[in-house]
Amino acid sequence: MTEQRKTPEQVACEICLTEVPLGDAHKAETDDYIVYFCGLECYRQWQKQHRQDDGSNQH
Ligand SMILES: [Zn+2]
Repeated sequence: MTEQRKTPEQVACEICLTEVPLGDAHKAETDDYIVYFCGLECYRQWQKQHRQDDGSNQH
């Protein structure tokens, strides 16, 4: 580990806009871009809004 920067890269949660470290963020890929979430709650909320599947195929 040679990285010495103290501030990790931050991303904003797509739903609640909370900033979280990139390494801790949940991530989802759409056709055009990648979205990040502070946690599973926001991730699921986003999934509901976007309805990629019918929601019965969670894992
Ligand atoms: Zn969030």
